[in-house]
Amino acid sequence: MNPQIAQRIANTKTNPPSDDALAAEAVLLAADLLHEAKRQQNSTEKAQQAKIAGMMEDPNGKLMTMALSDQAFRSHDPARIADQIKHLLAEHGVPKYFANWEQIALQLGSMVGQYIPQLVVPFIVAKLRAETKSVILPSEEKELRSYLQERRATGTRLNLNQLGEAILGEEEARRRLDSYLQLLTRPDVEYISVKISSVFSQINLVDFHGTVEEIKSRLRELYRQAMRYEFVPAEGTAVPKFINLDMEEYRDLHLTVAAFQQVLDEPEFMKYRAGIVLQAYLPDSHPVQRELTTWAKARVARGGATIKIRIVKGANLAMEKVEASWHDWAQAPYTTKADVDANYKRMLIYGCQPENATAVHLGIASHNLFDLAYGLLIRAKYGVEQYAEFEMLEGWPTTKPAPCKRRLGGFSSTPPSSNKKISTAPSATWCAGWMRTPPPKTSCTTCSASRSAPPVGRGKSNFPRGGAAAG
Ligand SMILES: Cc1cc2nc3c(=O)[nH]c(=O)nc-3n(C[C@H](O)[C@H](O)[C@H](O)COP(=O)(O)OP(=O)(O)OC[C@H]3O[C@@H](n4cnc5c(N)ncnc54)[C@H](O)[C@@H]3O)c2cc1C
Repeated sequence: MNPQIAQRIANTKTNPPSDDALAAEAVLLAADLLHEAKRQQNSTEKAQQAKIAGMMEDPNGKLMTMALSDQAFRSHDPARIADQIKHLLAEHGVPKYFANWEQIALQLGSMVGQYIPQLVVPFIVAKLRAETKSVILPSEEKELRSYLQERRATGTRLNLNQLGEAILGEEEARRRLDSYLQLLTRPDVEYISVKISSVFSQINLVDFHGTVEEIKSRLRELYRQAMRYEFVPAEGTAVPKFINLDMEEYRDLHLTVAAFQQVLDEPEFMKYRAGIVLQAYLPDSHPVQRELTTWAKARVARGGATIKIRIVKGANLAMEKVEASWHDWAQAPYTTKADVDANYKRMLIYGCQPENATAVHLGIASHNLFDLAYGLLIRAKYGVEQYAEFEMLEGWPTTKPAPCKRRLGGFSSTPPSSNKKISTAPSATWCAGWMRTPPPKTSCTTCSASRSAPPVGRGKSNFPRGGAAAG
């Protein structure tokens, strides 16, 4: 570990600073983390970062790249894909941040692809796959297995999510649920993330109770499977697989929390340790965190397992804004970044109080170095390192330097304490990886065509839809 980073964390632990001093120290620690990350960057990572920086300064190119990677994988029909690429190029133009040869190749490919799509489209799709391979994992058995092995060998633990757009019907919900159940049977999968909207298609707030009951029936299937197919870590003791409920729209918050609590209160699941996400951009999230903490403490006191809350800022701001403007409502999330950041820290501080952290373990999920630094110091200040871990998205620029133990010791975890009660709690850094949803047995080009243009405001989240993850 970088000695300066280690020293800052150790000082905070032995001599806890005031709130203001801790904030100032977090800024210095963020700078140290950034310098260390840059020092360790290899040439491939530098090139990747330069490309992402180029994309950020090319709004049209960003839009085109997102649309291309979102839509080019949907159909298995080369002619259909060629058609879609032509349409996207006409709409957005060639991304300016692409290298010259890439711009020419894309234009040429699109033209020639109209005539011989079977020959040209596979090259375009292969190139896109190569470009996104660090953020989207393959779902093909052989590739996924070797990827998981590789990452485990580096000491990184992976939380898997399945990519996919919003589901429209119960047949597709069943297929998604089955693919999660299948994923849980794999001995190399330790942790998956699931969104309730990916396993139940008919969410209806007017029928809150009926919707919760449906979600509960799907959660029971998932939790049962997680308990049946245990994961055996390198250290030895088998543990049930971990399932985290990701959060998407504000609409889903209270439904997800209700189903989560009610199922975990059932005798069959009392000993099962599960997780849920709370989004700091919602003013409701801190009160919900307090309620969940009170409930979790009571559950632990009754002999139940602990739970875990992953704290994120929230990825669906654009969608929430559109939703609010449609109905002429006030938007559900805070309206300023400062409010969101303050709530994130409020939730971290509350979650790191030792009496709370022992019952509700924390996943600190962010790519903001200031928040990561703040999280490192806050958990050290309250001495709850074994209950609070860091989670990031696989392949994102901060991921490689920040959490991987071999790179930045500051993020590596304290080994779990010998206290048996918490021995199943991994105190590690997680990377969440999105994998492509395995294709349905039969593909339907009509459906993919009709879905290629989601209604305004839907499917616009920065956080991929579907059930996959990081943490
Ligand atoms: C491991 C992991 C798991 C995740 N799981 C989920 C999940 O289940 N559900 C989910 O929604 N997201 C999830 N996210 C995404 C997360 O919510 C954030 O969108 C993302 O991490 C960016 O936030 P940041 O702290 O990294 O960066 P920052 O740049 O510090 O924060 C960006 C965030 O600030 C907020 N923000 C920015 N501008 C404004 C504004 N004007 N008004 C209000 N808010 C603003 C938004 O929430 C935005 O996403 C996850 C992220 C990670 C790393």
